[in-house]
Amino acid sequence: MLDRKRTAILLLATLVLFAVGCGGGGGKTDLSTRVIDIVATTGMVGDAVQQVGGERVKVNTLMGPGVDPHYYKASASDVTSMANADAVFYNGLHLEGRMVELFEKIKRDGKPTCAIAEAVPEEKLITTDNAHDPHIWFDVELWKLAVEETRRALTDLDPKHGDRYQTNADAFQKELDALHAFIRERSAEVAEERRVLITAHDAFSYFGRQYGYELKSLQGISTVSEASTADVQNLASFIAERKINAVFVESSVPVRNVQAVQAAAKSKGHPVRIGGELFSDALGAPDTDEGTYLGMVRHNVNTIVDALQ
Ligand SMILES: [Zn+2]
Repeated sequence: MLDRKRTAILLLATLVLFAVGCGGGGGKTDLSTRVIDIVATTGMVGDAVQQVGGERVKVNTLMGPGVDPHYYKASASDVTSMANADAVFYNGLHLEGRMVELFEKIKRDGKPTCAIAEAVPEEKLITTDNAHDPHIWFDVELWKLAVEETRRALTDLDPKHGDRYQTNADAFQKELDALHAFIRERSAEVAEERRVLITAHDAFSYFGRQYGYELKSLQGISTVSEASTADVQNLASFIAERKINAVFVESSVPVRNVQAVQAAAKSKGHPVRIGGELFSDALGAPDTDEGTYLGMVRHNVNTIVDALQ
């Protein structure tokens, strides 16, 4: 009896947790007769909304190629865009660390908002230094949960087109399954002991956990704190000891950090090359393959596998 009661409480707590991600104002206005205006923060979030919403949505993505979401501060025109939009979609889990207060404010104003990454259950999140790692999009299985949350939120906003959102989401989920299989297949080309991914900041922990890579980075899960000289030396020693042949730069983090590691490794007698540029927290240019979530992840995997082989 007690167990059942406990289960019920747990279930309720889970439901409350799920409800935290999305909400406010949904279903109040009939949006079924026009295109829905959505503001999205990162390219990955904007892509998910576009994939599920199809021609029913017009997505205004605030953070373009090379933009670091940890640092991003909303401009006056961003604030206006959000106020005028039908809904605001963002990653959450504190990725957009300098926009948290703004999200709280627009929620209080009754704007429908949805933090799609916050649909990932607590036990699946990686926690470092008492903070949840927000970079869930590099584990495709977790991103699928965020896409499902996107479908649910769009259906709340515009219930009359729920079937269409379901059809679009089903098609995209199939592509995500194919992407997941592709990452596993390509990663298997690299011998296990060579699967070490060295980057500027900790954007790839979920990727590493899901696809079997050891991770090392210069900065933590946010880029806000600077790496120290000691951090650079420690990472260089690790590279020299493990005879790592490639390190990676990220499109949204200055190259100089990784170059410093490269120079330090060289001075320890182990030259290491830059294996290529990874897209970590931003998509590529809109008219390129890397301008979509699927293309961006494929680019990263090809770059990583080709460099580590
Ligand atoms: Zn990041």
